[in-house]
Amino acid sequence: MKILHLKIKNRIAILEFDQPDSKVNVLNTDSMRELDEIIEQLADKSSSQIKALIITSKKDGIFIAGAEIKEIEQITSSDVALEKAQKGKQIFNKLRNLDLITLAAINGACLGGGLELALACQYRVASFSEKAKIGLPEVNLGLIPGWGGTQRLPRLIGITRALGMILAGKLISAKEAKKIGLVDRLFPETRLLEESLVFVNGLLEGKIRIKRKQKKKPLQIFLENTPLGKVILFSQAKKNVLKKTKGFYPAPLRALEVIRRGLAGDIKRGFRLESEAFGELAITAVAKNLIKLFYLNEQFKKFHWVDQKINPAEINKCAVVGAGLMGGGIAQLVSFHDIPTRVKDINYQALKTALKTADKLFRYAVKKKKLKKHQAEYKFGLISPTITYHGFKNTDLVIEAVVENLEIKQKVFKELSKVAAPTTIFASNTSALAIIKMGEASGSPEKVAGLHFFNPVHRMPLVEIIKSEKTSDETLATLIAFARKIGKVVIVVRDVPGFLINRILISYLIEAAFLLEEGIKIEQVDEIARAFGLPMGPIELVDEIGIDVSYKVVKILEQAYGARMRTPAILETVKQEGFLGKRTKLGFYIYRGKIKIPNPKIYKLIKGAAGRLISGQVALKRMIYVMINEAARCLEEKVVTRPETIDLGMIMGTGFPPFRAGLLSYADTLGSANIVRELQEFEKDFGAERFKPCSYLLQMAKNNEKFFG
Ligand code: NAD
Repeated sequence: MKILHLKIKNRIAILEFDQPDSKVNVLNTDSMRELDEIIEQLADKSSSQIKALIITSKKDGIFIAGAEIKEIEQITSSDVALEKAQKGKQIFNKLRNLDLITLAAINGACLGGGLELALACQYRVASFSEKAKIGLPEVNLGLIPGWGGTQRLPRLIGITRALGMILAGKLISAKEAKKIGLVDRLFPETRLLEESLVFVNGLLEGKIRIKRKQKKKPLQIFLENTPLGKVILFSQAKKNVLKKTKGFYPAPLRALEVIRRGLAGDIKRGFRLESEAFGELAITAVAKNLIKLFYLNEQFKKFHWVDQKINPAEINKCAVVGAGLMGGGIAQLVSFHDIPTRVKDINYQALKTALKTADKLFRYAVKKKKLKKHQAEYKFGLISPTITYHGFKNTDLVIEAVVENLEIKQKVFKELSKVAAPTTIFASNTSALAIIKMGEASGSPEKVAGLHFFNPVHRMPLVEIIKSEKTSDETLATLIAFARKIGKVVIVVRDVPGFLINRILISYLIEAAFLLEEGIKIEQVDEIARAFGLPMGPIELVDEIGIDVSYKVVKILEQAYGARMRTPAILETVKQEGFLGKRTKLGFYIYRGKIKIPNPKIYKLIKGAAGRLISGQVALKRMIYVMINEAARCLEEKVVTRPETIDLGMIMGTGFPPFRAGLLSYADTLGSANIVRELQEFEKDFGAERFKPCSYLLQMAKNNEKFFG
């Protein structure tokens, strides 16, 4: 079936992309071949009566979503990738060289190869629509634009702005694109084609002339137009990239180099450099892993955890009990998504702090142009603080986020059962406690599930939904729909102590504490984890979560799982000493403004440090292997059934490095037999139960199996 449809109207050719059986248009081998043929046709002398070409799309809200990622994923040779980049550029260059007026009429998402196609046209117009997002997000997949984007974009909109878009893979709105000269006109969505025709006729008749003089401030002129300025600009950009990527992601650095070298010569040379870099990057493990993660994310957005026939109930009003770190964050997030939220605490000060924090987050969203001021004010106004249960009768969902104490939580659930409507669903944000126990306290366990957010709530993409043995599918379906509505990635897990993510994560935090006890310095332990690609070290993380909260969770898991989750003495002593973590500016670190330094008092609390020399490599392996072992146990016990859930959950919930594609994908690169052998060596060397490989891993090692495939 044809993808491209060509019509001629008053000597103007209109080329519409319309990929059959798909909601989006992508540039794949077939559509690129069709495009090539049509450009050849138009270049042919016999069609010289045609004066202009308008390229647009028939899909709602989508111009072209980019190149077909599946085709890139399958490439295993850099020569093939280079060839693919060159071939695409050849076609786009032919388009550029047509002796016609060429215009892209952008009606929606115009991404990657789609934008490169639009950049190869002489003119671009876009609809006012919110859906018209424009950008080159290739770096997010470990790639760089390969069809001319790194060369055409900076030449059109200036180096600084192009770097901003390409190095961060940032998408911009059509309005912003107009402001920076990336598109020439904006038209109403419903009249895009008509107005494009008028625009093209205006150009043909000489009534419209587009002058693309970039508006630049003096500093920008210095940075972009003088040799010294360029040196400063590119070296600063490199510094920023390294700060953000910590050197783990090669694509933005390669893009920067290709832009810098490409702009120093003619565009043809730049194109060649771009294709070479694309070829190199396309076959890297980082690109393959990021592409894998992209698909995983897409899959989980739509994954049916319950029977599709079950309709979720609508959540129009919400309440949160407990206005602490998490409750306050949850209330802000829910109101951000326009759902009125009542927040109850027993402490006025907690309510005050929660409102102050929410206000700060809304102000930040205004500063970052995510919200208009009036929108932020409206949303903030949807949070209503209270110290009573007044109004709880009208809520569809109550999320409990009080202190991690089963008795207190059970008391809250009992109270809730009396004050809420019979249809209200209850969820707990507990880190590790049994959901069934809260369900039973409420008297209607079918209406209760865990809704485990991660800290900080507005930033961590994951919500772990915990289904107790009595949670009904209706409750589950409603919570899944709700969590997705407020922008979260959902995984559903079984009701076991620590559920999935904390159970794995805590084994790592425990190991880090033992390393401290064995004589490794606080900042060293953190540095080892960061050098692996984790966003923060385990000790910093304990401070962030709160030492008291972490301690409680470790204790719950120790009680449930015994010796392998034994609480390290240091955690207990530090808590007893009253160090609570970042919240109180004093924990394993001392916090002074933006600076933090290791707390020297911690070392005095470590009794009989072993003083054993442990290499960074062994320390890292110990921390990672205990997580792999615990994750394997979770599969064995069917806490979740698929390794994919663990990989996505660890990335979205803990920041496990995305370029490694997840904990179990990483484990596969090591091999189950190697992991088992080294765990057994650790067990011998350190005499600790927690290194004993679980039977699932042993079985895998015996059969030389991988978690994936
Ligand atoms: P927090 O101590 O910051 O807040 C708890 C709040 O609950 C306090 O404001 C307290 O006044 C209030 N509270 C206590 N009893 C109450 C009652 N009967 N009614 C109403 N309010 C009451 O704790 P937090 O860190 O926000 O943790 C809350 C829950 O979220 C815990 O179950 C915790 O395990 C879980 N959690 C915490 C994190 C984290 O990183 N801190 C992450 C995920 C989940």
